[in-house]
Amino acid sequence: MNNFDKTAYWQDIDQAHHIHPFTDTADLNNRGTRVITSAKGVFIEDSNGKRYLDGMAGLWCVNIGYGRKELAEAAYKQMLELPYYNNFFQCANTPAIELSKVLAEITPEGLNHVFYANSGSEANDTVVRMVHQYWNLKGKPERTHIISRKNAYHGSTVAGASLGGMSGMHAQGGSLLRDVVHIDQPYWYGEGGDHTPEEFGLLTARKLEEKIEELGADRVGAFIGEPIQGAGGVIIPPSTYWPEIQRICKKYDILLIADEVICGFGRTGNWFGSETFDIKPDLMPMAKGMSSGYLPISAVMVGERVADVLINQCGEFTHGFTYSGHPAAAAVALENIRIMRDEKMVERVRDDIGPYFRKQLDTLKDHPLAGAVETVGLIAGMPLVDDKKTRKAFDKPGTVGTICRDACVANGVISRACGDRMVLSPPLCITHDEVDELVKRLRAALDDTA
Ligand code: PLP
Repeated sequence: MNNFDKTAYWQDIDQAHHIHPFTDTADLNNRGTRVITSAKGVFIEDSNGKRYLDGMAGLWCVNIGYGRKELAEAAYKQMLELPYYNNFFQCANTPAIELSKVLAEITPEGLNHVFYANSGSEANDTVVRMVHQYWNLKGKPERTHIISRKNAYHGSTVAGASLGGMSGMHAQGGSLLRDVVHIDQPYWYGEGGDHTPEEFGLLTARKLEEKIEELGADRVGAFIGEPIQGAGGVIIPPSTYWPEIQRICKKYDILLIADEVICGFGRTGNWFGSETFDIKPDLMPMAKGMSSGYLPISAVMVGERVADVLINQCGEFTHGFTYSGHPAAAAVALENIRIMRDEKMVERVRDDIGPYFRKQLDTLKDHPLAGAVETVGLIAGMPLVDDKKTRKAFDKPGTVGTICRDACVANGVISRACGDRMVLSPPLCITHDEVDELVKRLRAALDDTA
Protein backbone atom coordinates (compact mmCIF):
# COMPACT_ATOMS: atom_id res chain seq x y z
CA MET A 1 0.00 0.00 0.00
CA ASN A 2 1.34 3.45 -0.77
CA ASN A 3 0.79 6.33 1.66
CA PHE A 4 -2.30 7.64 -0.10
CA ASP A 5 -3.99 4.23 0.09
CA LYS A 6 -3.15 3.88 3.75
CA THR A 7 -4.64 7.26 4.55
CA ALA A 8 -7.83 6.52 2.64
CA TYR A 9 -8.07 3.13 4.37
CA TRP A 10 -7.87 4.68 7.85
CA GLN A 11 -10.15 7.56 6.96
CA ASP A 12 -12.86 5.21 5.69
CA ILE A 13 -12.82 3.08 8.84
CA ASP A 14 -12.64 6.16 11.04
CA GLN A 15 -15.68 7.72 9.41
CA ALA A 16 -17.63 4.47 9.50
CA HIS A 17 -17.06 3.61 13.18
CA HIS A 18 -15.34 6.25 15.27
CA ILE A 19 -17.22 8.94 17.18
CA HIS A 20 -14.69 11.69 17.92
CA PRO A 21 -14.67 13.95 20.99
CA PHE A 22 -15.38 17.64 20.31
CA THR A 23 -15.66 17.16 16.53
CA ASP A 24 -18.34 18.13 14.02
CA THR A 25 -18.82 14.88 12.10
CA ALA A 26 -20.05 16.51 8.88
CA ASP A 27 -17.00 18.76 8.86
CA LEU A 28 -14.73 15.80 9.61
CA ASN A 29 -16.18 13.74 6.78
CA ASN A 30 -15.79 16.68 4.39
CA ARG A 31 -12.15 17.26 5.17
CA GLY A 32 -11.11 13.68 5.91
CA THR A 33 -9.56 12.73 9.23
CA ARG A 34 -5.97 13.89 9.78
CA VAL A 35 -4.42 10.61 10.89
CA ILE A 36 -1.41 11.15 13.15
CA THR A 37 0.99 8.24 13.05
CA SER A 38 4.22 9.16 14.82
CA ALA A 39 6.03 11.90 16.73
CA LYS A 40 9.45 12.93 17.96
CA GLY A 41 10.52 15.86 20.11
CA VAL A 42 8.12 18.69 19.23
CA PHE A 43 7.08 17.34 15.83
CA ILE A 44 4.15 15.09 14.90
CA GLU A 45 3.73 13.35 11.55
CA ASP A 46 0.57 12.37 9.69
CA SER A 47 -0.17 9.35 7.52
CA ASN A 48 0.89 11.28 4.39
CA GLY A 49 4.30 11.93 5.90
CA LYS A 50 3.62 15.63 6.54
CA ARG A 51 5.32 16.97 9.69
CA TYR A 52 3.84 19.62 11.96
CA LEU A 53 5.47 21.54 14.76
CA ASP A 54 3.12 20.75 17.63
CA GLY A 55 2.53 24.10 19.27
CA MET A 56 -0.04 22.49 21.59
CA ALA A 57 1.93 19.56 23.07
CA GLY A 58 -0.95 17.32 22.02
CA LEU A 59 -3.75 18.61 24.23
CA TRP A 60 -1.53 20.70 26.54
CA CYS A 61 0.01 17.52 27.90
CA VAL A 62 3.19 16.23 26.24
CA ASN A 63 5.37 18.43 28.42
CA ILE A 64 8.66 16.53 28.07
CA GLY A 65 8.15 16.05 24.32
CA TYR A 66 7.50 13.00 22.18
CA GLY A 67 9.60 9.86 21.86
CA ARG A 68 11.27 9.61 25.27
CA LYS A 69 12.39 5.99 25.51
CA GLU A 70 12.75 6.15 29.28
CA LEU A 71 8.99 6.46 29.71
CA ALA A 72 8.29 3.51 27.42
CA GLU A 73 10.87 1.47 29.33
CA ALA A 74 9.35 2.42 32.69
CA ALA A 75 5.92 1.22 31.47
CA TYR A 76 7.39 -1.97 29.98
CA LYS A 77 9.31 -2.87 33.13
CA GLN A 78 6.33 -2.18 35.38
CA MET A 79 3.94 -4.13 33.17
CA LEU A 80 6.15 -7.20 33.36
CA GLU A 81 6.58 -6.90 37.12
CA LEU A 82 3.01 -5.95 38.10
CA PRO A 83 0.77 -4.76 35.26
CA TYR A 84 -2.15 -4.07 37.51
CA TYR A 85 -3.14 -4.08 41.07
CA ASN A 86 -5.54 -1.73 42.76
CA ASN A 87 -5.11 0.59 45.70
CA PHE A 88 -8.48 -0.35 47.24
CA PHE A 89 -9.20 -2.32 50.39
CA GLN A 90 -5.96 -1.97 52.37
CA CYS A 91 -3.68 -2.56 49.33
CA ALA A 92 -1.26 -0.38 47.42
CA ASN A 93 1.24 -0.83 44.60
CA THR A 94 4.77 0.49 44.93
CA PRO A 95 4.84 3.04 42.06
CA ALA A 96 1.69 4.71 43.46
CA ILE A 97 3.29 4.84 46.92
CA GLU A 98 6.55 6.32 45.55
CA LEU A 99 4.68 8.81 43.39
CA SER A 100 2.71 10.07 46.40
CA LYS A 101 5.95 11.06 48.10
CA VAL A 102 7.34 12.75 44.99
CA LEU A 103 4.12 14.69 44.41
CA ALA A 104 4.12 15.88 48.01
CA GLU A 105 7.69 17.11 47.42
CA ILE A 106 7.06 19.05 44.22
CA THR A 107 3.63 20.53 44.95
CA PRO A 108 3.28 23.72 47.02
CA GLU A 109 3.74 23.57 50.78
CA GLY A 110 0.82 22.15 52.72
CA LEU A 111 -0.38 19.79 49.98
CA ASN A 112 0.86 16.46 51.31
CA HIS A 113 -1.84 13.94 50.46
CA VAL A 114 -2.88 12.58 47.09
CA PHE A 115 -5.92 10.80 45.66
CA TYR A 116 -5.42 9.24 42.21
CA ALA A 117 -7.73 9.16 39.21
CA ASN A 118 -7.23 8.81 35.45
CA SER A 119 -8.19 12.11 33.86
CA GLY A 120 -8.66 15.74 34.71
CA SER A 121 -12.41 15.24 34.62
CA GLU A 122 -12.26 12.41 37.14
CA ALA A 123 -10.00 14.49 39.36
CA ASN A 124 -12.63 17.23 39.35
CA ASP A 125 -15.42 14.74 40.08
CA THR A 126 -13.32 13.64 43.03
CA VAL A 127 -12.96 17.24 44.17
CA VAL A 128 -16.74 17.72 44.16
CA ARG A 129 -17.22 14.68 46.36
CA MET A 130 -14.42 15.80 48.69
CA VAL A 131 -15.96 19.24 49.09
CA HIS A 132 -19.38 17.77 49.92
CA GLN A 133 -17.94 15.22 52.31
CA TYR A 134 -15.73 17.82 54.00
CA TRP A 135 -18.69 20.06 54.80
CA ASN A 136 -20.86 17.10 55.81
CA LEU A 137 -18.25 16.07 58.33
CA LYS A 138 -17.89 19.65 59.54
CA GLY A 139 -21.60 19.59 60.36
CA LYS A 140 -22.48 22.05 57.58
CA PRO A 141 -24.10 19.86 54.90
CA GLU A 142 -25.95 22.84 53.46
CA ARG A 143 -22.68 24.26 52.09
CA THR A 144 -23.34 22.60 48.75
CA HIS A 145 -22.71 25.40 46.25
CA ILE A 146 -19.51 25.55 44.25
CA ILE A 147 -18.76 28.82 42.49
CA SER A 148 -16.90 28.70 39.18
CA ARG A 149 -16.40 31.05 36.23
CA LYS A 150 -18.01 31.49 32.83
CA ASN A 151 -15.76 30.12 30.08
CA ALA A 152 -13.89 27.90 32.54
CA TYR A 153 -13.03 24.33 31.50
CA HIS A 154 -12.99 21.60 34.11
CA GLY A 155 -13.66 18.49 32.03
CA SER A 156 -16.35 16.50 30.26
CA THR A 157 -17.93 14.25 32.85
CA VAL A 158 -21.22 15.49 34.27
CA ALA A 159 -19.43 17.07 37.21
CA GLY A 160 -16.56 18.43 35.07
CA ALA A 161 -18.88 19.97 32.48
CA SER A 162 -21.12 21.42 35.17
CA LEU A 163 -18.17 22.98 36.97
CA GLY A 164 -16.95 24.36 33.65
CA GLY A 165 -18.55 27.42 32.21
CA MET A 166 -18.90 26.39 28.57
CA SER A 167 -22.44 27.14 27.38
CA GLY A 168 -22.17 24.72 24.44
CA MET A 169 -21.49 21.89 26.88
CA HIS A 170 -24.22 22.97 29.29
CA ALA A 171 -26.70 22.82 26.41
CA GLN A 172 -25.89 19.11 25.91
CA GLY A 173 -26.41 17.69 29.39
CA GLY A 174 -23.37 19.34 30.87
CA SER A 175 -25.11 21.23 33.63
CA LEU A 176 -26.79 18.39 35.48
CA LEU A 177 -24.80 18.81 38.67
CA ARG A 178 -26.86 20.88 41.08
CA ASP A 179 -25.61 23.93 42.92
CA VAL A 180 -22.83 25.08 40.60
CA VAL A 181 -22.97 28.77 39.73
CA HIS A 182 -20.76 30.79 37.41
CA ILE A 183 -19.44 34.32 37.79
CA ASP A 184 -17.66 36.52 35.24
CA GLN A 185 -14.18 35.61 34.09
CA PRO A 186 -11.22 38.00 34.49
CA TYR A 187 -10.83 38.49 30.73
CA TRP A 188 -9.66 42.07 30.55
CA TYR A 189 -8.73 42.17 26.84
CA GLY A 190 -12.18 41.07 25.67
CA GLU A 191 -14.47 42.25 28.45
CA GLY A 192 -12.59 44.88 30.42
CA GLY A 193 -13.98 47.94 28.60
CA ASP A 194 -12.39 51.18 29.80
CA HIS A 195 -11.11 49.72 33.06
CA THR A 196 -7.41 49.19 33.63
CA PRO A 197 -6.47 45.51 33.93
CA GLU A 198 -5.88 46.00 37.65
CA GLU A 199 -9.31 47.55 38.19
CA PHE A 200 -10.92 44.81 36.14
CA GLY A 201 -9.11 42.09 38.09
CA LEU A 202 -10.61 43.48 41.31
CA LEU A 203 -14.03 43.96 39.77
CA THR A 204 -14.29 40.38 38.53
CA ALA A 205 -12.86 38.93 41.74
CA ARG A 206 -15.50 40.86 43.69
CA LYS A 207 -18.17 39.09 41.67
CA LEU A 208 -17.31 36.17 43.93
CA GLU A 209 -18.15 38.19 47.01
CA GLU A 210 -21.40 39.37 45.43
CA LYS A 211 -22.37 35.80 44.60
CA ILE A 212 -21.55 34.58 48.10
CA GLU A 213 -23.64 37.37 49.62
CA GLU A 214 -26.50 36.53 47.24
CA LEU A 215 -26.45 32.79 48.05
CA GLY A 216 -25.55 33.19 51.71
CA ALA A 217 -22.06 32.14 52.85
CA ASP A 218 -23.48 29.22 54.81
CA ARG A 219 -24.60 27.67 51.51
CA VAL A 220 -21.26 27.97 49.67
CA GLY A 221 -18.66 25.21 49.91
CA ALA A 222 -15.93 26.14 47.44
CA PHE A 223 -14.61 28.27 44.62
CA ILE A 224 -12.85 26.61 41.68
CA GLY A 225 -10.59 28.26 39.11
CA GLU A 226 -7.75 27.48 36.75
CA PRO A 227 -4.76 29.72 37.59
CA ILE A 228 -4.84 30.60 33.86
CA GLN A 229 -7.99 29.54 31.96
CA GLY A 230 -6.57 27.26 29.27
CA ALA A 231 -9.31 25.93 26.99
CA GLY A 232 -11.17 29.21 27.50
CA GLY A 233 -8.43 30.84 25.40
CA VAL A 234 -5.44 31.27 27.76
CA ILE A 235 -7.03 33.98 29.86
CA ILE A 236 -4.24 35.33 32.05
CA PRO A 237 -5.83 37.13 34.99
CA PRO A 238 -4.71 40.64 35.97
CA SER A 239 -2.29 40.73 38.92
CA THR A 240 -5.02 41.93 41.31
CA TYR A 241 -7.32 38.98 40.67
CA TRP A 242 -6.01 36.03 42.65
CA PRO A 243 -5.05 37.98 45.82
CA GLU A 244 -8.62 39.33 45.98
CA ILE A 245 -10.17 35.90 45.32
CA GLN A 246 -8.10 34.50 48.17
CA ARG A 247 -9.05 37.31 50.53
CA ILE A 248 -12.72 36.60 49.83
CA CYS A 249 -12.40 32.80 50.24
CA LYS A 250 -10.69 33.36 53.57
CA LYS A 251 -13.25 35.89 54.76
CA TYR A 252 -16.17 33.52 54.09
CA ASP A 253 -14.30 30.33 55.05
CA ILE A 254 -14.72 28.86 51.56
CA LEU A 255 -12.50 26.11 50.17
CA LEU A 256 -10.25 27.16 47.29
CA ILE A 257 -9.68 24.74 44.43
CA ALA A 258 -6.93 25.47 41.90
CA ASP A 259 -7.44 23.34 38.79
CA GLU A 260 -3.85 22.72 37.65
CA VAL A 261 -4.67 20.27 34.87
CA ILE A 262 -3.05 22.58 32.29
CA CYS A 263 -0.96 24.93 34.44
CA GLY A 264 0.74 22.14 36.39
CA PHE A 265 4.07 20.47 35.70
CA GLY A 266 6.14 23.40 34.55
CA ARG A 267 3.84 25.09 32.05
CA THR A 268 3.98 28.54 33.70
CA GLY A 269 7.67 28.47 34.69
CA ASN A 270 7.09 26.99 38.13
CA TRP A 271 6.05 23.45 38.95
CA PHE A 272 2.50 24.72 39.44
CA GLY A 273 0.52 27.76 38.34
CA SER A 274 -0.42 28.24 41.99
CA GLU A 275 3.20 29.21 42.68
CA THR A 276 3.27 31.62 39.74
CA PHE A 277 0.16 33.43 41.05
CA ASP A 278 0.84 32.84 44.76
CA ILE A 279 -2.35 30.83 45.23
CA LYS A 280 -2.69 28.65 48.33
CA PRO A 281 -5.29 26.05 47.36
CA ASP A 282 -7.02 23.60 49.67
CA LEU A 283 -7.50 21.14 46.79
CA MET A 284 -5.48 20.89 43.61
CA PRO A 285 -6.62 18.62 40.75
CA MET A 286 -3.93 17.86 38.17
CA ALA A 287 -3.38 15.54 35.18
CA LYS A 288 -1.89 15.96 31.67
CA GLY A 289 1.77 16.98 32.29
CA MET A 290 1.90 14.58 35.24
CA SER A 291 2.81 11.75 32.82
CA SER A 292 3.34 14.02 29.79
CA GLY A 293 0.32 12.19 28.38
CA TYR A 294 2.25 8.93 27.82
CA LEU A 295 -0.32 7.08 29.95
CA PRO A 296 -3.50 8.44 31.54
CA ILE A 297 -3.16 9.43 35.18
CA SER A 298 -4.47 12.28 37.31
CA ALA A 299 -4.59 13.22 40.95
CA VAL A 300 -6.05 15.54 43.52
CA MET A 301 -3.58 17.03 45.96
CA VAL A 302 -5.29 17.56 49.30
CA GLY A 303 -4.21 20.26 51.74
CA GLU A 304 -4.00 19.79 55.49
CA ARG A 305 -7.36 21.43 56.25
CA VAL A 306 -9.31 18.93 54.12
CA ALA A 307 -6.97 15.98 54.70
CA ASP A 308 -7.36 16.26 58.42
CA VAL A 309 -11.13 15.86 58.14
CA LEU A 310 -11.18 13.32 55.28
CA ILE A 311 -8.51 11.11 56.84
CA ASN A 312 -9.27 11.42 60.53
CA GLN A 313 -13.03 11.88 60.69
CA CYS A 314 -14.44 10.22 57.59
CA GLY A 315 -13.96 6.53 58.11
CA GLU A 316 -14.23 5.14 54.61
CA PHE A 317 -14.33 7.71 51.78
CA THR A 318 -16.64 5.80 49.45
CA HIS A 319 -15.01 6.89 46.21
CA GLY A 320 -12.41 5.45 43.85
CA PHE A 321 -11.69 4.20 40.36
CA THR A 322 -10.50 0.73 39.32
CA TYR A 323 -7.42 2.41 37.87
CA SER A 324 -6.77 4.92 40.68
CA GLY A 325 -2.97 4.87 40.97
CA HIS A 326 -2.50 2.36 38.13
CA PRO A 327 1.02 0.94 38.57
CA ALA A 328 2.21 1.40 34.97
CA ALA A 329 0.80 4.93 34.76
CA ALA A 330 2.35 5.79 38.14
CA ALA A 331 5.72 4.38 37.01
CA VAL A 332 5.54 6.54 33.88
CA ALA A 333 4.63 9.62 35.92
CA LEU A 334 7.57 8.96 38.24
CA GLU A 335 9.96 8.69 35.30
CA ASN A 336 8.45 11.80 33.71
CA ILE A 337 9.02 13.82 36.88
CA ARG A 338 12.53 12.40 37.27
CA ILE A 339 13.41 13.61 33.78
CA MET A 340 11.86 17.02 34.39
CA ARG A 341 13.89 17.37 37.57
CA ASP A 342 17.18 16.03 36.18
CA GLU A 343 16.96 18.16 33.04
CA LYS A 344 15.83 21.20 35.01
CA MET A 345 12.94 21.68 32.62
CA VAL A 346 10.93 23.94 34.90
CA GLU A 347 13.88 26.27 35.55
CA ARG A 348 14.52 26.37 31.81
CA VAL A 349 10.92 27.49 31.16
CA ARG A 350 11.24 30.19 33.81
CA ASP A 351 14.70 31.54 32.96
CA ASP A 352 15.43 30.71 29.35
CA ILE A 353 12.93 29.30 26.88
CA GLY A 354 9.85 31.00 28.41
CA PRO A 355 11.32 34.53 28.09
CA TYR A 356 12.61 33.67 24.59
CA PHE A 357 9.17 32.39 23.55
CA ARG A 358 7.63 35.67 24.73
CA LYS A 359 10.28 37.78 22.96
CA GLN A 360 9.80 35.99 19.66
CA LEU A 361 6.01 35.92 19.85
CA ASP A 362 6.07 39.64 20.60
CA THR A 363 7.41 40.18 17.07
CA LEU A 364 3.93 39.22 15.83
CA LYS A 365 2.36 42.24 17.55
CA ASP A 366 2.87 44.28 14.40
CA HIS A 367 0.52 41.98 12.49
CA PRO A 368 -2.81 43.66 11.67
CA LEU A 369 -4.81 40.70 13.04
CA ALA A 370 -2.91 40.25 16.30
CA GLY A 371 -4.64 42.28 19.00
CA ALA A 372 -2.13 41.29 21.68
CA VAL A 373 0.35 38.61 22.64
CA GLU A 374 -0.12 37.34 26.18
CA THR A 375 2.23 34.73 27.64
CA VAL A 376 3.33 33.19 30.93
CA GLY A 377 6.10 30.59 30.72
CA LEU A 378 5.26 28.40 27.72
CA ILE A 379 1.57 29.17 27.38
CA ALA A 380 0.28 31.92 25.12
CA GLY A 381 -2.91 33.52 23.88
CA MET A 382 -3.30 35.87 20.95
CA PRO A 383 -6.68 37.50 20.31
CA LEU A 384 -7.41 38.11 16.64
CA VAL A 385 -9.43 41.31 16.34
CA ASP A 386 -11.25 43.53 13.91
CA ASP A 387 -9.73 46.70 15.36
CA LYS A 388 -6.53 46.65 17.38
CA LYS A 389 -6.96 50.18 18.75
CA THR A 390 -10.39 49.60 20.26
CA ARG A 391 -9.92 45.84 20.89
CA LYS A 392 -13.07 45.32 18.82
CA ALA A 393 -13.88 41.66 18.20
CA PHE A 394 -15.06 40.28 14.85
CA ASP A 395 -18.83 40.24 14.28
CA LYS A 396 -19.06 36.47 13.85
CA PRO A 397 -17.05 35.10 16.78
CA GLY A 398 -14.84 32.13 15.97
CA THR A 399 -14.87 32.44 12.18
CA VAL A 400 -11.50 34.13 11.75
CA GLY A 401 -10.00 31.93 14.46
CA THR A 402 -11.06 28.80 12.59
CA ILE A 403 -9.59 30.12 9.34
CA CYS A 404 -6.33 30.89 11.13
CA ARG A 405 -6.24 27.46 12.79
CA ASP A 406 -6.60 25.81 9.38
CA ALA A 407 -3.95 28.11 7.93
CA CYS A 408 -1.65 27.00 10.75
CA VAL A 409 -2.17 23.36 9.77
CA ALA A 410 -1.48 24.21 6.12
CA ASN A 411 1.73 25.92 7.23
CA GLY A 412 2.84 22.94 9.32
CA VAL A 413 2.19 24.22 12.82
CA ILE A 414 -0.47 23.14 15.31
CA SER A 415 -2.15 25.98 17.18
CA ARG A 416 -5.66 25.98 18.53
CA ALA A 417 -8.42 28.54 18.08
CA CYS A 418 -10.54 29.18 21.18
CA GLY A 419 -13.10 31.37 19.48
CA ASP A 420 -10.88 34.04 17.95
CA ARG A 421 -8.02 33.55 20.42
CA MET A 422 -5.13 31.58 18.97
CA VAL A 423 -3.46 29.62 21.76
CA LEU A 424 -0.11 27.88 22.13
CA SER A 425 1.27 25.45 24.68
CA PRO A 426 4.30 23.71 23.13
CA PRO A 427 6.33 20.91 24.75
CA LEU A 428 8.68 22.30 27.40
CA CYS A 429 11.66 20.80 25.57
CA ILE A 430 11.23 23.14 22.58
CA THR A 431 14.55 24.65 21.46
CA HIS A 432 15.30 28.25 20.50
CA ASP A 433 15.45 27.30 16.81
CA GLU A 434 12.10 25.52 17.09
CA VAL A 435 10.55 28.61 18.72
CA ASP A 436 11.82 30.64 15.73
CA GLU A 437 10.30 28.10 13.37
CA LEU A 438 6.99 28.12 15.25
CA VAL A 439 6.77 31.92 15.08
CA LYS A 440 7.74 31.94 11.39
CA ARG A 441 4.97 29.44 10.55
CA LEU A 442 2.46 31.30 12.70
CA ARG A 443 3.21 34.55 10.88
CA ALA A 444 2.70 32.80 7.55
CA ALA A 445 -0.65 31.51 8.83
CA LEU A 446 -1.67 34.99 9.98
CA ASP A 447 -0.73 36.38 6.55
CA ASP A 448 -2.82 33.69 4.86
CA THR A 449 -5.75 34.53 7.16
CA ALA A 450 -5.65 38.32 6.69
N1 PLP B 1 -9.39 20.80 33.89
C1 PLP B 1 -8.75 21.58 33.01
C2 PLP B 1 -8.23 22.91 33.45
C3 PLP B 1 -8.54 21.15 31.70
O1 PLP B 1 -7.94 21.95 30.81
C4 PLP B 1 -9.01 19.87 31.34
C5 PLP B 1 -8.80 19.36 29.96
O2 PLP B 1 -8.36 20.06 29.08
C6 PLP B 1 -9.69 19.10 32.28
C7 PLP B 1 -9.85 19.59 33.55
C8 PLP B 1 -10.23 17.76 31.92
O3 PLP B 1 -9.20 16.86 31.74
P1 PLP B 1 -9.47 15.48 30.95
O4 PLP B 1 -9.69 15.83 29.52
O5 PLP B 1 -8.20 14.70 31.19
O6 PLP B 1 -10.64 14.83 31.58
